[in-house]
Amino acid sequence: MAVSKSLEELCEIAIRLGAAEAKVIKAGDVVVRDWVRLKCQYGCDGYGKRLTCPPYSPTPEQMRRVLSGYNSAILLRFEPGWEKVHRVVASLEREAFLSGYYSAFGLTSGPCPLCKECNLKNCVHPELARPSMEACGIDVYATARGAGFKIDVVKTRREKPRYFGLLLVT
Ligand code: SF4
Repeated sequence: MAVSKSLEELCEIAIRLGAAEAKVIKAGDVVVRDWVRLKCQYGCDGYGKRLTCPPYSPTPEQMRRVLSGYNSAILLRFEPGWEKVHRVVASLEREAFLSGYYSAFGLTSGPCPLCKECNLKNCVHPELARPSMEACGIDVYATARGAGFKIDVVKTRREKPRYFGLLLVT
């Protein structure tokens, strides 16, 4: 594939765009588990409220098939402030695409923050809205830990969660 940037250069761009850390990983190291979707369906008050969330987002089964079509991905860590994850991931996906990685696809964290209320029919920001990793059945804890990132369950409101995004690249 003729590309004008290396994956490492894309990691540097991710940091310039606002990620705290970026690492190249194997797409096969992204962990998908069927139970993740249950956590969305039972326990998240955002279930069914955004086109980027279940039941609209890809199922774990679909995600496994999608991942099998990729070799490499870039895992992104963010400091608190998950709203920016969506814009950074979308910008990085665009950079990767324009660099020749025509199959680049981004995944984010949390519900889509781009509209006050999602119309649940036709996305008004298709260039920016991407499903979160967990909405597609990705076990973010296992995937992040496998890549060497520290991530723990947040137990109190005082603790600051860590947010992650993913760019499937090639
Ligand atoms: S950009 Fe708006 S319409 Fe599109 S998924 Fe997000 S909230 Fe829904």
